[in-house]
Amino acid sequence: MNKIVFIDSITNDERTQWIQLLNEALSEEHIVLPEQVGEETVHEVDIAIVANPQPEDLLRYPNLRLVQSVWAGVEKLVSALRSQEFSRVQVRLARLEDTQLSISMAESVLAWTLYLQRNMSKYVGQQTAKKWLQLPNINSKHVRVSILGAGKLGLASLELLKKLDYQLSCWTRSNKQLDSVNHFYGVAGLKAMLAQTDILINLLPLTSETHRLLDKEKLAWLPLGSKLINFSRGSIVNTSDLIELINKGHIAHAVLDVFDQEPLPEDSELWSNPKITILPHISAPTNKKTAVKIVAETIIAYRKEQKWPECVDLSLGY
Ligand code: NAP
Repeated sequence: MNKIVFIDSITNDERTQWIQLLNEALSEEHIVLPEQVGEETVHEVDIAIVANPQPEDLLRYPNLRLVQSVWAGVEKLVSALRSQEFSRVQVRLARLEDTQLSISMAESVLAWTLYLQRNMSKYVGQQTAKKWLQLPNINSKHVRVSILGAGKLGLASLELLKKLDYQLSCWTRSNKQLDSVNHFYGVAGLKAMLAQTDILINLLPLTSETHRLLDKEKLAWLPLGSKLINFSRGSIVNTSDLIELINKGHIAHAVLDVFDQEPLPEDSELWSNPKITILPHISAPTNKKTAVKIVAETIIAYRKEQKWPECVDLSLGY
C-alpha cells in the first residue's frame, strides 16, 4: 500500500494539528511520520506532504514522486531539487496555492499601504514625543503604488488596491496585459517603474534571479521620500543597502515582514530604527483548514485520476 509521509520542522503541537486534519480529509490514505517508516517500507512512500522540511530528508524515499508543500514559499526545496544531490530523484514539487492565503496577503498589503499613506508611523513617533502636528493628507488616487510580482499574491493585492483608486503598476518576468494596472518587465522596465513609485511592495519569489535584487543601485531608482513594503522574502533586499538609503533619507520608511534570518536576531539594528516597522512574518499565514482541503483535493485527483497539480518550474525557480 502506498503511503504519504509528513515531513516538517515545526512544533509538536503544530504537527499534531496538521496530522489530525490531514487524516480527517484523507481518510483512505495512510499518512505517517518519518519515524513510523521502517527501512523495509521506505519504498512504499510515494507522496510527501511537507512543512519547511530539511530537503535531504526526502532522499530517504526512493519512490517519492510528489512533494506537496503546505507553505507557499518553497525556495529551500527548489534549490535542493536543482542540486547534484537530487539529480537522480524524479520528484515534482507543488506549493500551496490557496485563495484564502491570497486574500490574507491582499489585506496585509492594503493595511500597510494605508499605514504608510496616512503617515501612521509618523503619528506613532509624534505620540511618543507628545507632539501635536497635523501632517498633509494625500488621497489614494494620487498615490503611486507598485508591486514587484503579479502572481497569486500580487494579483489579489492589485485587485483590492484598485477599489481605492491607487495609481497601480506591477513588474513581472513575462510580458502581460492587466486591466487598470501599468505593467513593466525587464531591467529597463524595473527602472522605469521604480522612478514613478511612492510605495513599492515586494511580492516576488526568492530565486537566483531575485536574490538581492533590491540593492543600493535599484533602491536609488525610487524617488526621494518613497516607501518600501517587503512581504515575500528577506533575501530579495540587500538589508545594509536599505538601511543606508533610509538613514540618508532617500527612503522614508520600510515595513518588513521577512528577513535574512528569522526570528530577527535581538541584536539586529533594524529593531531600533524608527523608520523601519518590523513584523514577525505574519502578512499571509497558512490557514490549516483551507490548506488541508486543497492538499486533500490535490492528492485525491493525483491518486484517482493520475492528475498532477500545477508544479514549480525548477528551471525558473518558482
Ligand atoms: P507566484 O504566483 O509564483 O508569482 C510570482 C510572480 O513573480 C509572478 O508574477 C512572476 O512573473 C514574478 N517573478 C518571478 N521571478 C521574476 C523575475 N526574475 N523578474 C520579475 N518577476 C518575476 O508567487 P505568489 O504565490 O504570488 O508568492 C510570492 C512569494 O510570496 C512566495 O514565493 C513566498 O516567498 C512569499 N510569501 C510570503 C508570505 C508571508 O507571510 N510573508 C506568505 C506566502 C508567500 P510572471 O508572472 O511573469 O511569471
